[in-house]
Amino acid sequence: MSARILVVDDIPANVRLLAAKLSAEYFEVLTANDGPSALAVAAAKSPDLILLDVMMPGMDGYEVAQSLKADPKTRHIPVVMVTALSDANDRVRGLEAGADDFLSKPVNDIALFARVRSLTRLKVMMDELRLRHMASGQIESSEDVVGSAADVQPGRILLLESKDILAAEVTGYLSEAGHIVERARTGEEADKLLDAAAPDLIIVNLRLAGEDGLRLCSQFRSKDITRHVPILLIINPDDLEELAKGMDLGVTDYLIRPFDRNELLARTRTQIRRRRYHGQLRDLLDKSVSMAYTDALTGVYNRRYMNAHLDRQVMEIADTRKSVSVIMLDLDHFKDVNDRHGHVAGDEVLKEATRRISANIRDFDMVARYGGEEFVIVMPNTDLDIATSVAERLRQSLESKAFAAVEAGTSITVTASLGIATTSDPMETAESLLKRADNAMYAAKRAGRNQVCAAEAECGLDSSGTFALAP
Ligand code: GH3
Ligand code: MG
Ligand code: MG
Repeated sequence: MSARILVVDDIPANVRLLAAKLSAEYFEVLTANDGPSALAVAAAKSPDLILLDVMMPGMDGYEVAQSLKADPKTRHIPVVMVTALSDANDRVRGLEAGADDFLSKPVNDIALFARVRSLTRLKVMMDELRLRHMASGQIESSEDVVGSAADVQPGRILLLESKDILAAEVTGYLSEAGHIVERARTGEEADKLLDAAAPDLIIVNLRLAGEDGLRLCSQFRSKDITRHVPILLIINPDDLEELAKGMDLGVTDYLIRPFDRNELLARTRTQIRRRRYHGQLRDLLDKSVSMAYTDALTGVYNRRYMNAHLDRQVMEIADTRKSVSVIMLDLDHFKDVNDRHGHVAGDEVLKEATRRISANIRDFDMVARYGGEEFVIVMPNTDLDIATSVAERLRQSLESKAFAAVEAGTSITVTASLGIATTSDPMETAESLLKRADNAMYAAKRAGRNQVCAAEAECGLDSSGTFALAP
């Protein structure tokens, strides 16, 4: 989907010009001719970016930017100030009013599309992040999950600059703003610094002594560690042709020498935010993937994943002819644990029980939380004898040492009843195997709990009055 851009200028010819350039690149364009109508369109149509003229009669661009950033409904929309004056004071005022970047008139195409792409991509990411937070129920409204430009945290920046004076200037500006700058003179030095960790941003001087800045940019794009790290290219006014190549190679934004401090800081800030949101998005995605197959309390696999896993194991019997065993383990009188020590202590016991079970099975066995205080252990390539010894080991690992309930200030004795079922029949389903293990577990309960029982076997108290293990 193409981004929607609001162009604001009091001179109709300026609006038409920008609108034509943007439409030609398939952006959707909205327009406004003065401040108040810009605010109305921004609120009603939520554009992805606003190109805002500074000099307008009545309400000027600074005031518009201020109102946009003050309203929670429009605060997150990136604003680019379009100014005829290249006066540094204008830029400072623009930044103070909340602008995200600047363009000077007459607007050149490379600059226009560099800013527009950079900021609309950032906006897409922020929107996605808000949506996901909302979908996961972490927030109720879409506001303020992603901070405003003003509260972005400083970042780690790799600066590739061969000239000491220029490096000192850039490093000075960035350090003042709290960023940590690591400087490399050559691509080789940069590689060494990159060994440690990926930076939030790479700034490259196109004109590196003895090296091709563009080639380095292209290498950063192809390496795993830097693939998603934004690149800010520093060029001279007559490097526009190389800049165009750089943008094609994946350079994210650029600065033309001589640039001022605010311009450097604004672009740095935009790129670092983008990097951060990208990282947050990926973390959220990882989390939602792992939530789909693990149990939140204990961290082991959940019932759904275990079912799929067991289906596969049972189907493989047709090829391998090896038996698959499952253990159904249910903690004894667990309701009493909750009743006597509280639910928090109950949760602690469940977590510790999970740790003990995990520690006592083999690498290729799998444990899943099947329900409240029920666990299933799936053991491929395992016959009844082995399954029985594993089950007995699990039973002892729970019984042998009392569980500490830290908050309740006590320790709790916990036991479990375990049922085993084994199959080497390719026609048996995972469902029936589990059912047999469940029946065996209930037989163990009936026989007095804290014991192991195999499916279709006699179990329980033997004639001498002691617990019998599974036959
Ligand atoms: P039995 O020996 O027959 O298995 O008795 P039981 O009390 O363990 O069995 P029952 O099925 O009656 O009760 C299970 C209890 O497990 C009920 C519930 O309070 C508790 N439980 C289930 N899930 C959780 C959980 O996530 N945390 C805590 N603390 N308790 C849970
Ligand atoms: Mg129980
Ligand atoms: Mg139960």
